[in-house]
Amino acid sequence: MADTYDVIICGAGSGGGFMAGEIAANGSVLILDAGPYFPEAANPGVGVPSRRVLATQMNLGTWLPKSKETNHGDIFFTYPMYMDRSNPFASTAQREARLVGGGSAINVGAWLRPRLVDFDGFIEETGVSGWTKKDFEPHFRRAERILNVHRDDRRFWNKASILYEQAAIHMGIPVFETASNRKNCIFCGHRLNAGMPCKYDSLMSTALTQIPRAIKAGATLIDNATVLQVQITNKTATGVTYTRNGETFTANARKLVVVSAGAIGTPLILRDSGVFDMNANVGNYLRAHPGVPIDVLLPGDDWGMDRGYQWNVHHHVMDDKGFPLDAVVHASAGFPSTTSWVAATFKIGLFGKPYKDIMRQFRSRVGAFIFAMKPAIYGRITGTRANPVITYPIATNLGLLEDKTSSDLIAGIKQVGAIYKKLGAYASFPNGDDPEPVLKQQIGLFVTTSGALHPQGTCRAGANPGNSAVDTWGMSWDVKNLMCCDASVIPNHISSNPNSMIMALASRQSDYVNLQILGAKSASTAEAEDLAAQLHRTAPSVSAGKEEVPQ
Ligand SMILES: Cc1cc2nc3c(=O)[nH]c(=O)nc-3n(C[C@H](O)[C@H](O)[C@H](O)COP(=O)(O)OP(=O)(O)OC[C@H]3O[C@@H](n4cnc5c(N)ncnc54)[C@H](O)[C@@H]3O)c2cc1C
Repeated sequence: MADTYDVIICGAGSGGGFMAGEIAANGSVLILDAGPYFPEAANPGVGVPSRRVLATQMNLGTWLPKSKETNHGDIFFTYPMYMDRSNPFASTAQREARLVGGGSAINVGAWLRPRLVDFDGFIEETGVSGWTKKDFEPHFRRAERILNVHRDDRRFWNKASILYEQAAIHMGIPVFETASNRKNCIFCGHRLNAGMPCKYDSLMSTALTQIPRAIKAGATLIDNATVLQVQITNKTATGVTYTRNGETFTANARKLVVVSAGAIGTPLILRDSGVFDMNANVGNYLRAHPGVPIDVLLPGDDWGMDRGYQWNVHHHVMDDKGFPLDAVVHASAGFPSTTSWVAATFKIGLFGKPYKDIMRQFRSRVGAFIFAMKPAIYGRITGTRANPVITYPIATNLGLLEDKTSSDLIAGIKQVGAIYKKLGAYASFPNGDDPEPVLKQQIGLFVTTSGALHPQGTCRAGANPGNSAVDTWGMSWDVKNLMCCDASVIPNHISSNPNSMIMALASRQSDYVNLQILGAKSASTAEAEDLAAQLHRTAPSVSAGKEEVPQ
């Protein structure tokens, strides 16, 4: 007989993993994830054997998908993404995390909150209610407390970041210090190894925070369990089927099925479950953040880049009237040479020693990564989980990026180049002084071969089933007891890296689950926690003459 739980969570990444930790104390919870789990308790700054072995294996290249056709990789999904209208047969490999913790376990750890205009954009796009900056404020704070989000001590910044910040400010560009969700980071130089977990447990993923909390509260986690379908009877979600080690299982849900398999995985599961047939918005409105790296050469060889680039600062690309464009620059790191995520495009060596060996040869090299945050296109998720087809037609029939993305990215390349020129840069790639057609070709080629980061919006929340897949709380319009909780729910693209937004929406939806679905009488809402934290802050305890700073 199938096991029965109050809630089944399908996918334990940023969204699903965060929710698991918030709700597990109030009901029986089953967490299923397609990837592996390494249960040793977190030891931030030191690490534990199992995760160190994982990181080493990834250093050696086991991240590689076995093939694009089978869509299998050891800890990644690789989805074919069609980006170029001029070459409809060519697809790039869009990688998404496949391990407990999801993207939060392998990302860079840059923590940016969305801007006020992004919340306005949610309402303009789908009329969704309850998605204002004020509504979300306590949820950002909750996530930031749990994940130890803080700005780095400037003593550990790269020299290039410090000088980049000074030069940019001198040019009138507002620059911000980039916060990170890390604990006891030893600044080993690999913090920008996007695509690989932190070897020393410093990256505060849901695998190290909310998942252990959920398990402690009684949740059951089954790893290497791939969800095939949500069971739906009389338009009500009643459970899920999943495979593990070649066997197929069913688990029943008394109250709720949460699908949190990411902005690509979630609509695919819902398509396979027949939800798309009830609501054509499922899988539609894919938004993403394509980006380009810029690398420059500076005089001297003491920039410390062989120890790994860092993203210490970020800013919006500013136009000549002082208005921010929809592009965000992370400095002082380029990206391709630090991560297999996009390095594969340039055929640059992987992580660890091969990477360090390459970087040691280019000690005068620094850079930045520029994300286009609001391209003027939508993409779409179609096909099935076993045979997915992702279209994100960012390149036009001419093979060049659509105009808005192109002009935002080129403005960024020119601005970053100008800032680095102030530091004496004598070469840069791409080079902002090149003729525009050359720049357009270079960025078009990079984007259409490297994919589009940060997919979001594919089961977006809105005011009605005509324009969205779920309501303000992530509840399906069409199937009772079915919720989405991940990047897919974001109503419109945001102008920040998305991890903070996803955790905040998971926090908000967790309050809904606790109070409305699990009937918890004294759910610790984010608002209540926030108030408690404020009181805590105003009355710091004093020991041995020292103020204890609340963590
Ligand atoms: C290399 C990289 C670097 C990044 N850097 C940053 C950064 O610095 N800052 C930032 O804010 N954001 C960053 N991001 C983005 C951010 O990490 C993701 O947007 C976020 O983690 C997505 O959260 P999610 O819950 O939507 O999906 P995920 O975290 O991807 O979770 C989905 C989970 O579902 C599981 N799953 C999928 N399909 C199934 C299935 N059929 N059955 C069972 N389980 C399934 C997966 O194994 C995974 O654990 C980065 C992303 C990547 C890939």
